[in-house]
Amino acid sequence: MIITVASGKGGVGKTTTTANLGVALSKIGKNVLIVDGDISMANLALIFGFEKKRPSLHEVLSEECEVGEAIYKHNSGVSVLPASLSIEGYKKSDLDIFPDAISEVADDYDYVLIDAPAGLNRDMAIHLAIADKVLIVLTPELFSIADGLKIKQSSEMAGTSIIGAILNRTGRDYGEMKIDEIEMIVQEKIICAIPEDGNIRNSTLKRRSVIEYDPNTPASKAYMELALKITGSY
Ligand code: ADP
Ligand code: MG
Repeated sequence: MIITVASGKGGVGKTTTTANLGVALSKIGKNVLIVDGDISMANLALIFGFEKKRPSLHEVLSEECEVGEAIYKHNSGVSVLPASLSIEGYKKSDLDIFPDAISEVADDYDYVLIDAPAGLNRDMAIHLAIADKVLIVLTPELFSIADGLKIKQSSEMAGTSIIGAILNRTGRDYGEMKIDEIEMIVQEKIICAIPEDGNIRNSTLKRRSVIEYDPNTPASKAYMELALKITGSY
């Protein structure tokens, strides 16, 4: 199953969620490929220490290599298709090749998770269209929720159904919006809340997923719970 992790607003936790949901699914025995679909701002590779790997998705998207050559196994158990941080890499990439490249390998995995860019440009439309399901990432702030609603509408226009939304960075601000208020606005179920957790920043600095960094921290437990929900075993 191909799941695109999307949000309208940037900086809400898509990359963090893609990496950690991927590691969590792998911990419960699933075969997972994580794809750095945010090819202009490739951050996912950083979490796994794969930003210098060549070939990367950029070489796949410039038809310099086969997609299988740019997939790397990480010791957490997940396979990663990283993008590089170079601007040249980005410039030579043709995202129109992306759907075929992903389709070529998708059947080898139980889950393919795509870390999408923010916003609603043409790149995003490609990421929404290729997915079997879209997972929307929100934070408990009005702008993030309003933008999330647009992602929901775009997914529907692309004919892709939504798994649900996750609410990231909860418990950060006093008086933040409540889950039922948010569900009312986006007309979508919040399937999991991921608390604000300083271990996420610390783990990123150590170039690891938070689950590998400390499996008992609140965010790690929440991501494990999300993985169980997504596999239907919760
Ligand atoms: P996006 O991919 O949507 O732009 P990121 O995953 O890069 O967002 O997250 C943006 C920033 O927020 C990063 O510095 C990340 O470490 C931090 N962050 C994300 N989720 C949490 C959380 N639950 N608790 C604390 N910090 C978080
Ligand atoms: Mg990101």
